[in-house]
Amino acid sequence: MARNILLFGPQGSGKGTQGEKLSAVLHLPYIVTGNIFRENIKQNTAIGQTIKGYINAGKLVPDQVTNTMIGERISQPDCHAGFVLDGFPRNLVQAEALDAIVPVTHLLHIAIQDQSAIQRIAERRTCVANGHVYHLTFNPPKVSNVCDVDGSELKQRDDDTAAALTQRLTIYHQETEPLLGHYQKLGVVYTINGEQAIADVWKDIQALFA
Ligand code: ADP
Ligand code: ADP
Repeated sequence: MARNILLFGPQGSGKGTQGEKLSAVLHLPYIVTGNIFRENIKQNTAIGQTIKGYINAGKLVPDQVTNTMIGERISQPDCHAGFVLDGFPRNLVQAEALDAIVPVTHLLHIAIQDQSAIQRIAERRTCVANGHVYHLTFNPPKVSNVCDVDGSELKQRDDDTAAALTQRLTIYHQETEPLLGHYQKLGVVYTINGEQAIADVWKDIQALFA
């Protein structure tokens, strides 16, 4: 049976940090809505021009744009055995759109407090080439400001400002977190303590797929 896995949790909970590894271990495509959107902005595509304002303000991109993009992506042949999806769905309209395409088999809810989210995002650095994620204190690169994986420069994301983060956390609590109820009814929610060290969160995630 396909493994259709959602990574779920507030900003800074470690979805990117863990998702990259999980997709490699399970040999499933890793699909990150934020990265796809940022790539569109970088390439200045028509979608990029439409969504830039929303993203930099910390607001959700309109559902129609997002649902179409994800629907097309997960219908590709490389998703037949499943996928690791990070950043979607974020509200009920999106969850229902996803349910209409494939059944979700696992929702990994990585739980952290807002205080940790704020501390982590303030020192997050992301590589410009592929979005690999570091933290100045908790997960620094081997060479300052250089990505260990692809050698590209590390930068702070444009939306990792205090104001945009507050807005993103508010939307998470109001619109995204309530989706847990929807997926609990389907019996697919696995909650992980995201306050642990990166290696311990990874152990808990791996144990689910052992
Ligand atoms: P998300 O994708 O959920 O927003 P990230 O994976 O980008 O989260 O992690 C946010 C920041 O916190 C990054 O700087 C990352 O290096 C750091 N981080 C991730 N997991 C942990 C952890 N368990 N403990 C401490 N810092 C972490
Ligand atoms: P974060 O979860 O830390 O806010 P992401 O990198 O996942 O950041 O996403 C960056 C931005 O892309 C979001 O703030 C939002 O504007 C947009 N975005 C990502 N996923 C979605 C989604 N499912 N629906 C609407 N907008 C989205």
